[in-house]
Amino acid sequence: MTRRPSFPARIDFSHGQPTAARPAGAGSKAAPRAGAAARAPVGPQGLGMDSVAVRASMVQKLAAQGVADKWVLQAMNAVERHRFVDPALVNQAYEDTSLPIGLGQTISKPNVVARMMELLRHGQPGKLGRVLEIGTGCGYQAAVLSHLATEVYSIERLRGLHDKARDNLRPFRLANVHLLFGDGMAGFPKGAPYAAIIAAAGGEALPQPWLEQLAVGGRLVAPMVTAAGQQALVVVDKTAQGLQQTVLEAVHFVPLKSGIA
Ligand code: SAH
Repeated sequence: MTRRPSFPARIDFSHGQPTAARPAGAGSKAAPRAGAAARAPVGPQGLGMDSVAVRASMVQKLAAQGVADKWVLQAMNAVERHRFVDPALVNQAYEDTSLPIGLGQTISKPNVVARMMELLRHGQPGKLGRVLEIGTGCGYQAAVLSHLATEVYSIERLRGLHDKARDNLRPFRLANVHLLFGDGMAGFPKGAPYAAIIAAAGGEALPQPWLEQLAVGGRLVAPMVTAAGQQALVVVDKTAQGLQQTVLEAVHFVPLKSGIA
């Protein structure tokens, strides 16, 4: 495996001290653990520290933009996003922008990841149970989810990205992340029922298997092309009475495709 180069010196480190990053109910017993990501080896001469500061600044911006869930903020603070992007893009890793991850796919901007995580958790007091993610991509969101769920099953249809995510995630040793290669439109019945399902790619409709594999009381968050012909974020709650769908803001995700490649 090729290791990522250390954090580049050209990033702007004038964002204050890493101690500014105390978003998660600090001191609370229910607060999630910082995770292995926060303890990952640092680069030479304090560059690792600077990645902490830049990430803290990203999290502060997320909070200022309205992300209020402390679990989500802590998870975004814990995962080193710069380790998931191409070395040439590392200095943009903490900007609120989507970035290419190869094979024509993109990693969502931090604000969108945080927003979806918040919708998925919808204020739950503790961790989610088993979560299914469709579209592993580079593995970043799976790493964030690993802090918010007991188990994460993440499916990718492109072999190249599935392998890349495996390489990216290996150093973090996230024992609760299970990477699967296959067509996520079929879900992953073996892990069902899921407390939550999240898709990082949007189709014309929500595949039936996702709705079937969602637990009663569970929530699905996915981009979908709506009646207006635009892609929007859709939330589906599965209740004892049936499915309840809410269409939220417009989004721009890569298309959900069938089959593997
Ligand atoms: N969560 C990812 C975002 C990846 S972009 C990250 O953090 O990097 C969305 C991904 O969905 C792409 O990698 C694309 O290949 C994948 N995808 C699209 N349709 C799919 C399907 N039917 N099954 C599994 N993955 C799919």
